Amino acid sequence: MIARALSMSQPRSAGPPLGLPAVQRVKVNEIFYSLQGESTAVGRPCVLLRLTGCQMRCVWCDSEYSFYVGEWWSLDRALREVASFDCSLVELTGGEPLLQPGARPLLVRLCDAGYEVMLETGGGVDISEVDPRVRRIVDVKCPGSGEAENNRWSNLDLLTDHDELKLVLADEADYRWARDLVRQRQLERICPVSFSPVVESLEGRKLAEWILADRLPVRLSLQLHKQLWGSQTRGC
Ligand code: SF4
Repeated sequence: MIARALSMSQPRSAGPPLGLPAVQRVKVNEIFYSLQGESTAVGRPCVLLRLTGCQMRCVWCDSEYSFYVGEWWSLDRALREVASFDCSLVELTGGEPLLQPGARPLLVRLCDAGYEVMLETGGGVDISEVDPRVRRIVDVKCPGSGEAENNRWSNLDLLTDHDELKLVLADEADYRWARDLVRQRQLERICPVSFSPVVESLEGRKLAEWILADRLPVRLSLQLHKQLWGSQTRGC
């Protein structure tokens, strides 16, 4: 993997917030170049820009290192850093990137610069003000995450066929919950829907069998980056 990160091993001081208004800066946990591991863009080279902070605490979270550690960047610097990778596909992720006031303006700047832009959001924050050129990948938290109470259900009404939904499943109870949600809301008619297993507690093969047996119109996502670089891979 070709990667460049700000905080792979040692915490960094956040430093001063640059003396800029909140909408002109972002706190960045890491930036790196890799293959998209999930979503309909799986397998494509992509620059991933991870912002610091998340209001959720999913029990299976593999990105806890992004909760606090980061460095303040101006939006201009973020654009320069992204450009240095010479890659047309960019994903803004977290943590929960939409907690930062600078995230939405940054997405606009990235779109204006001609990038194909994706946003990964945990599904607990309003997505309505996100630039419509951005492909929004919105999580729905299942009960096994411990965060299902914090789903912002009104986000589902804002999705278009340009967006995607992602559900991470910890066990069979999560699968049944997610299956019933897909059926009741006919989510596949809105946008692509992916089911992804928590690798520590649910076999991908088992999830595949359930999807096939129920003829459920969803995609199985097995997180390509973890197959290629291992379950301890950070920041993918
Ligand atoms: S929303 Fe994402 S980053 Fe936040 S706790 Fe859940 S899995 Fe981790």
